Amino acid sequence: MSLKVYINGKLYDKEDAKISVYDHGLLYGDGVFEGIRSYNGKVFRLREHLDRLWNSAKAIWLQIPMSKDEMAKAIEDTLRVNRISDGYIRVVVTRGVGTLGLDPNHCQEPQVIIITDYIALYPPEIYEKGLEIITVSTLRNHPAALSPRIKSLNYLNNILAKIEGLQAGCIEAMMLNHKGEVAECTGDNLFLVRNGRVLTPPIEAGILEGVTRQAVIELARESGREVLEIPLTKHDVYIADECFLTGTAAEVVPVVKVDSRTIGDGRPGPVTKELMARFRQLTRS
Ligand code: PMP
Repeated sequence: MSLKVYINGKLYDKEDAKISVYDHGLLYGDGVFEGIRSYNGKVFRLREHLDRLWNSAKAIWLQIPMSKDEMAKAIEDTLRVNRISDGYIRVVVTRGVGTLGLDPNHCQEPQVIIITDYIALYPPEIYEKGLEIITVSTLRNHPAALSPRIKSLNYLNNILAKIEGLQAGCIEAMMLNHKGEVAECTGDNLFLVRNGRVLTPPIEAGILEGVTRQAVIELARESGREVLEIPLTKHDVYIADECFLTGTAAEVVPVVKVDSRTIGDGRPGPVTKELMARFRQLTRS
């Protein structure tokens, strides 16, 4: 059976799920999206993802043509139709069909797309051995130009950084902000551990407010750890005891090498391992 894709209230076979080439989502990356996971038939932190989607839409003057409750129901219905209990959900809201000019006032109605599928995670050995990443030359978008807090369909900033990383043999890459501080990775937030404290760049560093980031901050604090959201430099990364990344697809993934510097003793550290276990418990219980 072919997977069904939701577009504006109707379900289509994956092969027939299509939108117009005049959609400004395609022509200009004019739209917003979310990547969400479902574990054991339950959507993880759905409310938080929907809040972020609505905030992203608000920031770009895009009115999502339904309520959050209706969206939640549409997501759950689409998962059910496809019989997916452990999967990945991609919600996309585009500006809709318009003319070839930029003016979004010519766009008729936003297109709401819900894809439910399975996610290809990083290879399992990465979670045991850890990831090697590099800093790339592509800076994260200046927050005053296009805020990284908006999860927009315009992901070129991240894609350019990803290409740089891949060309250096790294599947994830660290991006700095316009001040030279550590921002985040191309599709994951970054954390350090130093002297038992958990450190991560603040939202003002120009990053996406990751749902997994927030969950991990909560888990670390619940286990009695101090968590600081403070500006970090590459130097802080190099001298950290541990480093790990968080994201909906990646979950919690250890990093053991950055810019050819070994982090800690070159193996996933105890705090990282503990948070990986706690996150697994949170999502799988
Ligand atoms: N930063 C960026 C740029 C991302 O694309 C993502 C993935 N959505 C994240 C961080 C992690 O966010 P989340 O935990 O909400 O998936």
